[in-house]
This record gives sequence, structure tokens and C-alpha cells, in this order.
Amino acid sequence: MKKLLYQLDTDALPSVFDNVVAHDGGTDQVIPYGGITPQNVGALVDGAIFTRAPKDKKLTAIFVGGSNMLEGEAVFKAVQKKFFANFRVSVMLDSNGSNTTAAACVAWLSKGRSLAGKRAVILAGTGPVGQRAAVMLSREGVTVSITGRQLDKTQATCDAIEQRFGVKVHAIAAPDNVTRASAVEGAHIVIATGAAGIVLLEEKDWKDSPSIEFLADANATPPMGLEGIDVMDKEAMRHGKTAFGAIGFGALKIAVHRACVAKLFEQNDLLLDADEIYAIAKTMV
Ligand code: NAP
Repeated sequence: MKKLLYQLDTDALPSVFDNVVAHDGGTDQVIPYGGITPQNVGALVDGAIFTRAPKDKKLTAIFVGGSNMLEGEAVFKAVQKKFFANFRVSVMLDSNGSNTTAAACVAWLSKGRSLAGKRAVILAGTGPVGQRAAVMLSREGVTVSITGRQLDKTQATCDAIEQRFGVKVHAIAAPDNVTRASAVEGAHIVIATGAAGIVLLEEKDWKDSPSIEFLADANATPPMGLEGIDVMDKEAMRHGKTAFGAIGFGALKIAVHRACVAKLFEQNDLLLDADEIYAIAKTMV
């Protein structure tokens, strides 16, 4: 019997990236659907849970993606609401690579060391990757702030994180490189998770910092979000700080993403979100 993955994307056009990785994770057939909402997902879930005998249900699974984290979370919840008794399948949430990318980044940062008690600032942390990195760092005992260009949106993001995960993340309004330079003062960890190709922090604003120990940048499209580090950096030393670039931790991201997809087909009741995916990444780094 074939391993089938229903790729439910909140965007109109389902992600090709997620489709390719799903195949590479061992799925026989990936079936992409776009424009998924909590309102229209129900019939698709019914089709997934009612079709196969109990012993074969684990060979059907659901992947929730798309560029909007809140929409992805709402669909992830709506999918689970349809489940009852053993009428369920395994589900993974990874809007915009949020969980797998953040998990790879934070797993590298915490590899072989404790981050507890440190202070992190996630620049442009209001997107899917930044939100999940905030959760995972908080789980490591780090005090986390995220910046965004508007205080209202950034605070709303922090509130949503607290509501979903029970962790307190602080909001900082930082609309430009000057205010972002102030925001990282006193931080031990700086992560850039801005939209592709935007410089968020200039090299002069971090290279002499007495507090910064770790830098990581999720953006793989030039120019780098953190000027002065390289996209290939993997524990590279830059001005005495340990640096990670997007490709540097990207290999682990892809490996984690594939491993998570493979795990979906081992049982029919797995739910993979931030905590579960981060736990998997920690075993792989
Ligand atoms: P995103 O949602 O596209 O953007 C994150 C934040 O960037 C937005 O919430 C926005 O925050 C801010 N932003 C947008 N335009 C800006 C501008 N002109 N100036 C300053 N800030 C701006 O990002 P994402 O999906 O979370 O992804 C984060 C990064 O990770 C991206 O660069 C993406 O390409 C990369 N990525 C890497 C991997 C990997 O394997 N390495 C995987 C997936 C994604 P405000 O509006 O609140 O300011």
C-alpha cells in the first residue's frame, strides 16, 4: 500500500519546496492542495481518516504548510478537530519551513552547551521562522525578544506565541538598522529571520559588541540579514563570535524536514509541531 501525504497549504499555490522534500522523505505520492482554511479542510480530513483499515491508516498522513503561521496553526487545529477514536492520521505543521528551520538553527546553537540564562534578540522575528525560534530558545531557558517594524504587530505576535506555547517573548519596535543596533545591545544571541535579501544589522553594529557570543542568519538570499557573516558559516568564528549562515544550518534543516515526514508514516497519531520537531532536531545535530 502506498504512503500518501496530503500537502494542505494555506497559500493559493502549494509550496514546491515542501512537495519535493516530502518525496525525498520517502512519501510515495504527495497530493498538494492550495487555499486551505479551517472552514474547507474538513472534507479532506474525512477522506484521509475514513478510507484505510486501522493497520494501514499510518500510511496516510497530512502536512500543513503555507506562508502564514497563524493560518497554518488554525488549519492544524481544525484538522485535529475532525479526529475521533482511532479515526486519525499523523499531521505535521511547518508553515514556511518555520519549525524545521528554527529547529535546525537552535539545535546548532545549543549543541554541546547550555544557553540557559542568556538573552536573545531575534531580528524581524515576527515571521514564521522567527516565531518558532523564539519558542525553541525559550525552551532552552533563554530570555527572548523579537523585533518588528511596528510595535502593534510585534506585540500581537508575542501574545500569539504566549497563548499557543505559554512562553513570554518580549516585543521591540525596530523599524531600521539604527534601532535594530540598539535592540541587540546586551544580547548574547542574535538571530536574523527577516524576509529574504534584507540587511537587518550592519557588521559595525555587532563586531565589537562585548555581549554577543552567537549570531545566526536564516536568510540565504544575498545580501545577508547579518552583514559580515557568510551564508555557509557553520560555527565559524567572526570577530570572536560563533556564526551560522542559512546554508550552514540548512543541511540539518532539510535532514530534519525529511526525517519528520518519514516519521509520519510510522504511526497514525503523531502530531509534529515546534516542540516535537525541535526534539527530533536535537537528536540529529
Ligand atoms: P518572512 O515571513 O518572509 O519575513 C519575516 C519578517 O521580515 C516579516 O514578518 C517582517 O516583519 C520582516 N520584513 C519584511 N520586509 C522587511 C523589510 N523591508 N525590512 C525589515 N524587515 C522586513 O520570513 P520567514 O518565512 O519567517 O523566513 C525567515 C527567513 O528564513 C527568510 O529569509 C527565509 O528565506 C529564510 N528561510 C530559510 C530557510 C533555511 O533552510 N535556511 C528555510 C525557510 C526560510 P515586520 O513586518 O514585523 O517588520
